[in-house]
Amino acid sequence: MAASFKTEMVLVGRLARAEDILAGLTAVALERGIRAAVVQGVGATREAVLGFYDQEALEYRDHSIPEPMELLSLTGNISLKDGSPFVHVHAILSDEQGRAFGGHVMPGTRVFALEYSLMVLDGPELCREYDRETHLYLWPASVSRALG
Ligand code: ZN
Repeated sequence: MAASFKTEMVLVGRLARAEDILAGLTAVALERGIRAAVVQGVGATREAVLGFYDQEALEYRDHSIPEPMELLSLTGNISLKDGSPFVHVHAILSDEQGRAFGGHVMPGTRVFALEYSLMVLDGPELCREYDRETHLYLWPASVSRALG
């Protein structure tokens, strides 16, 4: 079953140049006491580290993009892991020719500029739990739809 939340507020801001996306958004969440949110953003990156989850090996493989890119879309969420806000975001980046690259945002992804919106949610605790099948920390079974 899905869980029901109300929108508490929408926070709008930007990260400082060269700020790490995950560290920066985590700091915002800690400062504002955010426990659940929907994340959106646009901007540009100076360098990026994107992950691809290998579903056979059950581990992330990283690829680095060390040059400036447009950040076309940052999307994801904030929920709790071990009682602290945990930022999970994916990014689509584009180069000078408009070619797109994407993945799971890893530490080391630094912005040239980022304008973000956080739709802060009010509702039940949304705590990540270790999932044995995927080896990932996922939202709990209480918000998972059981298969027929
Ligand atoms: Zn991810």
